[in-house]
Amino acid sequence: MSEAVRIPSFDLRRNYARIEDEIIEAVRRVLSSQCFIMGPEVSEFEREAAAYLEAPRAVACASGTDALLLALMALDAGPGDEVITTPFSFFATAGCIVRLGARPVFVDVEPDTYNMSMERVLDAVTPRTKAVIPVHLFGQLCRLEEIAPELARRDIPIIEDCAQSFGAHRMYGDRIMRASSWGRFGCFSFFPTKNLGAYGDAGMVCCREQGDSDRISRLRAHGAAETYIHDEPGLNSRLDALQAAVLRVRLRHVETWIEERREAARRYDLMFAERGVLDVLTPPVEDAGNRHTYHQYVVRAKDRDALQNFLSGRGIVTRVYYPMALHVQPCMISAGYARGDMPVAERLTEEVLALPMFPEILPEEQERVVSAILDFYRG
Ligand SMILES: *Cc1c(COP(=O)(O)O)cnc(C)c1O
Repeated sequence: MSEAVRIPSFDLRRNYARIEDEIIEAVRRVLSSQCFIMGPEVSEFEREAAAYLEAPRAVACASGTDALLLALMALDAGPGDEVITTPFSFFATAGCIVRLGARPVFVDVEPDTYNMSMERVLDAVTPRTKAVIPVHLFGQLCRLEEIAPELARRDIPIIEDCAQSFGAHRMYGDRIMRASSWGRFGCFSFFPTKNLGAYGDAGMVCCREQGDSDRISRLRAHGAAETYIHDEPGLNSRLDALQAAVLRVRLRHVETWIEERREAARRYDLMFAERGVLDVLTPPVEDAGNRHTYHQYVVRAKDRDALQNFLSGRGIVTRVYYPMALHVQPCMISAGYARGDMPVAERLTEEVLALPMFPEILPEEQERVVSAILDFYRG
């Protein structure tokens, strides 16, 4: 009976089946070389990923979290500094700030795009502001053109958290601005479920200046530009060759997969519009001029928790990104925020639901998801 077949929130096995032969060949190439840490696979991946992103420079590292940490370390962020960011993101965004002893300054998000409200960023700037970390959440870019010129005038660097937005872009006049184009640094994650995922942890920092890429390269390898000469204490955050080889294969297909995600998103949009559920459920909004890459398809739903349980009973797996805002996380107490300070983000934590979304999702599966949602609200 088809009702019994589970619909996962993402399905990496279906994706692997499409590229298995290419992956095996790439992995075999690395195994034959017996060269596992850094090396030509990593530098080729950096070159190819930078070309795709139209980024002048790219330095691969061990995770998206490390990418953010390395960017902040390259700015010498630490105690006494403030870093402006969003309260509605994965923990790592603000976690990196606190870990370096700096203070996160939160700016609430917009209810439709879920991204940090650009208008309010400049109001949050103080003489202590070291950087701004906007997050391009769920695959959609922030309107950075609204703040980048003013921040540049004040010499405040932007670190773009691009972990969920590989391949996203946004028009600026008739120019295509890709993820990481506005920032001094653009930080990517290749966690397996991201739009471009490795088969383990991996990340990358994009930047423009040679000096910045030199510093990041040094910091990712114990602060040593030359073997055994350590200019400063860094991290061990190298990318390994097996992950780079996997990423090189998957990079060749990522455009197709992003287009498939966008088609799936359009199908959900259409199904919701036709069934008249928009009084109880708000589909995600694609901001004008954006190419949303639908890392997640996140709706806002009335009675979210009950809906999620109901769907689970029908074998449909959904997720809540994110159930707790960052300003009220236990380890953020010293930043001085309280419940009620970020009303939009707090409301979203109670309303958002990520529906099954992956390149291989079938229209029949989406139909089952939408019908089940209708059954929940209309009985
Ligand atoms: C995934 C993610 C990160 C962290 O990436 P890892 O590779 O898991 O360390 C940071 N920020 C955001 C917004 C993310 O989604």
